[in-house]
Amino acid sequence: MRNVIFAPSRMRWVVNPKKKLKGCLFCRIAKGDKKVPQKVLYRDEHVIVLMNIFPYNTGHLQVVPVRHVENLEDLSTDEICNLFTMVQKATRLLKKVLRPKGFNIGINIGGEIAGASVNHLHVHIVPRYERDFGFMEVIAETKVLPESLEQTFEKLKKEVDMLK
Ligand SMILES: [Zn+2]
Repeated sequence: MRNVIFAPSRMRWVVNPKKKLKGCLFCRIAKGDKKVPQKVLYRDEHVIVLMNIFPYNTGHLQVVPVRHVENLEDLSTDEICNLFTMVQKATRLLKKVLRPKGFNIGINIGGEIAGASVNHLHVHIVPRYERDFGFMEVIAETKVLPESLEQTFEKLKKEVDMLK
């Protein structure tokens, strides 16, 4: 059976391939560049929490260190602490708002070979729900999301104090 995904946010890339982003996407977002499509849920001087605008599942977040780092071993102890404390808080936020039954939390390192579309290190938090498809269907992006990115964003935004 062939699944179809409704992902209108992808159209911008499909119809306008010439408009490829210059520079590092996450560095541009960290600098507050509004020209970059983004859904920033929270930011402080160390970490940014974004909704993935190409989500694998509803509530798919990315936790990104502000400093451009490509390898886990390049992070200082403080940066690791800030990053993973935020992963913990974001997980708590997702549990409260979206009530997932589980999570896939991961980091792709090494660019394309590892499936990373942005080299700037980031932690994916993918909530998993009771009626989810299997993991392959989710990572193959064949899932139909039950609510729009905007709806999920607004819900999470209401509880954003949990990330402070
Ligand atoms: Zn960067």
